[in-house]
Amino acid sequence: MDTLVDSASGQFELNEDQLAIQDMARAFAADRVAPNALAWDRDKHFPADVIRETGPLGMGGIYVREDVGGSGLKRLDAVLIFEALSAACPAFSAFISIHNMGTWMIDLFGNEEQRQRFVPRLTSMEWLASYCLTEPNSGSDAAALKTRAVLDGDHYVLNGAKQFISGAGDSDLYVTMVRTGEDGPKGISALVIPKDAPGLSFGANEYKMGWNAQSTRQVIFDNCRVPVANRLGEEGDGFRIAMGGLDGGRLNIAACSLGGAQSALDKAVTYAAERKAFGKAINQFQALQFKLADMETELSAARMLLYTAASKLDRKTHDASKWSAMAKRFVTDTGFNVANDALQIHGGYGYLHDYGVEKIVRDLRVHQILEGTNEIMRVIIARHMTSQ
Ligand SMILES: Cc1cc2nc3c(=O)[nH]c(=O)nc-3n(C[C@H](O)[C@H](O)[C@H](O)COP(=O)(O)OP(=O)(O)OC[C@H]3O[C@@H](n4cnc5c(N)ncnc54)[C@H](O)[C@@H]3O)c2cc1C
Repeated sequence: MDTLVDSASGQFELNEDQLAIQDMARAFAADRVAPNALAWDRDKHFPADVIRETGPLGMGGIYVREDVGGSGLKRLDAVLIFEALSAACPAFSAFISIHNMGTWMIDLFGNEEQRQRFVPRLTSMEWLASYCLTEPNSGSDAAALKTRAVLDGDHYVLNGAKQFISGAGDSDLYVTMVRTGEDGPKGISALVIPKDAPGLSFGANEYKMGWNAQSTRQVIFDNCRVPVANRLGEEGDGFRIAMGGLDGGRLNIAACSLGGAQSALDKAVTYAAERKAFGKAINQFQALQFKLADMETELSAARMLLYTAASKLDRKTHDASKWSAMAKRFVTDTGFNVANDALQIHGGYGYLHDYGVEKIVRDLRVHQILEGTNEIMRVIIARHMTSQ
């Protein structure tokens, strides 16, 4: 059944299959993630065991083809899953998004031998995947990357480093963009690198503001040997492959902001009904009511933009990349602002770890930076608007 759009309200009405997917993800999030999320954050614990439990539920390859164990679902289904998981923990949800991005890239751009060799163990989540594009001296300007891969017989020999890699040291496979040719995007190739590749090592886990339930490390190549048979596509295809992964990744990360912000808003509504000041519940003050009304309105607008962008990517419309960028920019900015307002409504208690709101604010902040900063999203949107 197709997704129905109620034209009167502009709200998406989800079909029965989508509602079932959403229910399943919400139940898992409530049962297995929410009770542990604050401890994972406090202890900087990467919950690989609980992440792996999502494999049998079909979350290891949500929009990956079914012959290699994928769920064969749509981008909109994926958005619903990431929104539901991040209501319990945005950092947990975001790691599964990155794993899906890497898995989908191998499924789509890999040859048949590579698909059969790598993807079934990724969709089952026996193996976890990371995505390695950023380098110490190239983030937004990703096409300037310098990690060099030189042919030596049937192997490439890699030297260089990747920066800020989510899951580094914990993941089993690293979908990595390297330079095999000229400067610029056309000299970049994509390699699938196993964790035990000779010459591969990892930096220290970074101390960071949020996303403490997943590791962030450098990935270091010191004469690292990778079989040519692990290259996705041809030499020079790597930048196109990397950008292909990001359209969907941007929707997923926006969904992580949406779910986290909705959870913060729900907490604020509950708290404002219970907390008393000047002899009445604080939700009786109109200033606070107006703030809640704006939070609800802006988050609903963000949700509609995201679902529309996901449906455009499913239909492969010519403007899908622009809409993915618009959704990423708007939803992650709105999500952060709503979560921060929710913290304010909690007063001093919002600043305490146990109330769970400050963690959401910290987790959501990085969504405005990664998968392309929100400034780069504006660059993409404007380029679509001004190119002939
Ligand atoms: C916790 C965390 C996890 C991450 N995980 C991964 C991962 O798994 N894999 C991966 O490959 N990367 C990952 N990243 C890297 C992330 O994608 C980059 O940090 C991001 O792309 C920005 O790059 P940069 O940090 O080098 O900033 P820079 O590119 O140096 O940007 C600095 C500032 O300049 C602005 N700017 C740059 N160019 C322009 C322009 N043309 N117009 C306007 N403003 C501009 C930026 O918006 C930003 O505000 C992660 C980062 C973090 C913090």
